[in-house]
Amino acid sequence: MTVYESVTDAIGGTPLFRLARLGEGITTPIYAKAEFLSIGGSVKDRAALSMVREAERTGELRPGGTIVEATSGNTGIGLAIVGRQRGYRVVIGVSERAAAEKSDILRAYGAEVVLAPTALSKDHPDHLFHVVRRLAEEIPGAWLANQYDNPANPDAHVVTTGPEIWEQTGGRVTHFVAGVGTGGTISGTGAFLKKASGGGVTVVGADPEASVYAGGDGSAYFVESIGHFVHPETSEDVWPESYHRSVVDAFERVPDRESLLTARRMAREEGLLVGPSSGTAVAAALRVARRLGPDDLVVVLLPDSGRSYLSSALSDDWLRQRGFLEEPRHGDDTEPTV
Ligand code: PMP
Repeated sequence: MTVYESVTDAIGGTPLFRLARLGEGITTPIYAKAEFLSIGGSVKDRAALSMVREAERTGELRPGGTIVEATSGNTGIGLAIVGRQRGYRVVIGVSERAAAEKSDILRAYGAEVVLAPTALSKDHPDHLFHVVRRLAEEIPGAWLANQYDNPANPDAHVVTTGPEIWEQTGGRVTHFVAGVGTGGTISGTGAFLKKASGGGVTVVGADPEASVYAGGDGSAYFVESIGHFVHPETSEDVWPESYHRSVVDAFERVPDRESLLTARRMAREEGLLVGPSSGTAVAAALRVARRLGPDDLVVVLLPDSGRSYLSSALSDDWLRQRGFLEEPRHGDDTEPTV
């Protein structure tokens, strides 16, 4: 049994699970990397720890300092855990639209939550991004983590996620499938696996059908935290620096319905309660694996737990009201969040 001296030691080091049921009838083995078993419950713990360590190394973050970030989800939890353990104040800007549970969990970990109004265009001074930038300027000793453009985000996966997958598969992995939010996970893990295999690993992005990453029209979709949509008022379409396009060989474009129903099947058939972005990734991995043979090996990354989505994506009522369990209907006016 493992004994940890610090909770941050329990970030990463996640197991792989063979997807035996969903992969039934497919000759290529599919293994899922269970990031929901990380201490904060998601893959973003890795990026949070890496960004904080790098800011400490460069002196941007010093004892008594404050960590600031805009996020409605997993990165905030990771920063709250890592930050509070190291004695920092943690201030997280959250969009008012985000579920109350998300702010509550941040507060429970000891972070301060600043709510910003939603549905504002990015040039509005009260837009979340300006709110956190102002906080970072006004609070003495504040450091803005800025996961979208922080190289320590993808680096976390070059140093940890990639090597773990390589070792866990004994170098047999041939395909890596993951969603793209900031792009940190796919860029860092993919770059490592390509290098370790001498170019023998194909990296596949799993993207919501409407997302512009894989050429969608940028309209809204339900799956949270991945993909990229174009702001309806500003036509804002700025790609994060944490996303390295050259690492991704191909994309699978997955409609909401397929993502959501795959996440639902993961809990019911594999015993893995995962979030909707895991549904997108597994749906893409199944498509990829169906085209391969027994000598290939697919690894798919499951970014977070389904516990944060019990009143949305993992609720049958929610799915039914939106037509995902009976007649399919694509999207409504809900904005995606990352
Ligand atoms: N899924 C979930 C649930 C996430 O929180 C994130 C991070 N936004 C991602 C996928 C995408 O990860 P990355 O930012 O590393 O691309």
